[in-house]
Amino acid sequence: MNTRDAASHGTFHLTWARPSAALTLRDWLAHLARTGRVATIDKPVALEHELAAIAKRLDGTQAAFFTKPGGHDVPVVSGFMSRRAWIAEAMGVAEADLLARFRDAADQPVPSKEIPRAEAACQQVVHTSGIDLHKLLPIPTHSEHDNGPYITAGLVIARNPRTGVQNVSINRIQVHGPDRMAILLLPRHLYAFQKAAEEAGDALDVAVAIGVDPLTMLASQAITPIDHDELEIAGALHGAPLPVAKCVTNDVHVPAFAEIVIEGRILPNVREPEGPFGEFPKYYSAKEAREVIEVTAVTHRSDPIFHTIVPAEMEHLLLGAIPREATLLAHLQRSHPGVKDVHLSAGGVCRYHLWVQFDKKREGEAKNVILCAFGAHYDIKQVVVVDTDVDVHDPAEIEWAIATRFQADRDLVVIAGAQGSPLDPSTTVGQPEDAPPHLQGVSAKMGLDATRPAVYPAHVFTRVYIPGQDTVDLDALVAADNRAFDAYLSRHHD
Ligand code: MN
Repeated sequence: MNTRDAASHGTFHLTWARPSAALTLRDWLAHLARTGRVATIDKPVALEHELAAIAKRLDGTQAAFFTKPGGHDVPVVSGFMSRRAWIAEAMGVAEADLLARFRDAADQPVPSKEIPRAEAACQQVVHTSGIDLHKLLPIPTHSEHDNGPYITAGLVIARNPRTGVQNVSINRIQVHGPDRMAILLLPRHLYAFQKAAEEAGDALDVAVAIGVDPLTMLASQAITPIDHDELEIAGALHGAPLPVAKCVTNDVHVPAFAEIVIEGRILPNVREPEGPFGEFPKYYSAKEAREVIEVTAVTHRSDPIFHTIVPAEMEHLLLGAIPREATLLAHLQRSHPGVKDVHLSAGGVCRYHLWVQFDKKREGEAKNVILCAFGAHYDIKQVVVVDTDVDVHDPAEIEWAIATRFQADRDLVVIAGAQGSPLDPSTTVGQPEDAPPHLQGVSAKMGLDATRPAVYPAHVFTRVYIPGQDTVDLDALVAADNRAFDAYLSRHHD
């Protein structure tokens, strides 16, 4: 638990030393509520825009809990992992150890444990006929130009048709019929499963789990090779096998403690329009033809909670950032052991701008680190490398390093025409509006070596430091009131 976070919450009690093996969304929400971090909205709110507007205003401050969303008696929660410090707290580590802990879990997964259906909280209520998602669940419409309600916090779980190993990802899902949804599949593991099933003329069975704890949410975003079940990383983060239950209409296994599970099948050779939808770069994705899920069942707790993530807000951005940072740090350290820490900045939508803290020994090394980072993930557009005396998590420190240790004519690296994020709108300039996928996302990369010389004359690059600045005991020194000051003024008044 880090003291900065404790201080920002006044009456905080250090009761959360380690994550519980049975940590559920409810445990976590109860913990947040005890520490003043849940805002309960007990008035009726509209599912269209109003709910997301309120949650957006609270993002990073308090989780929003809506008891009467859109006339439903199923509450909606949003923003329960919208600060780095909260996520570290859920993991039971200091903020500085967050990436190392996540990497350890990804390296040492813990197999899940199947439990009987009778014990699975997520299947206390089962609907298999007459399903109308709009009646069953309070599904919000978030941004101004979104094409209707979206499920934004659903863990999409499917089995590799070739190996049977599960995959977990979060995909945006547009609910456009009572039992029909369009899903965005980016070219990763779920996409590969769907392609394999489709080539064989088969539907792909899936489950969408909504309302899980922060550790399971985070594990779903691990960047792992195919056929590594992300639920096993969730088990490692929990410190115990994750209890899972088999779905009622297919063989997918879901976290048994999930609040809600939508079961279904991605239909082969069916595409329906999806979008526009406001995405993580804070711009809209266009309407395109997407894969379709036909819903076969909805199961839930007897009193379920629906989780929605407000797109492009901190809960969304951090969920992507932390697993990426853990992966990027490991990638950089393999070639450059002097790399100490990395940070995907909020201003760079936790995807595009990477800040690297590096213990430079020789000239030129920082540029090698920059090139290594460009190769690590196509989303990385700008890299700043700083020395170990610069706080890589503080934007003002990064700017200071650039202001005082960087010269554009010798410390700037620009690579033109590389692959970047297709969701970065600046990559579309000069492109036809209907550019085919293989032409999308072409982007320049920019690297800034903001490290000081490896060797420099005395004091030129020595940061100003006042002996005692970190250790003076202000509580012992500063008077409780200004009586001495007032007495001084009255004595010296003329
Ligand atoms: Mn995967």
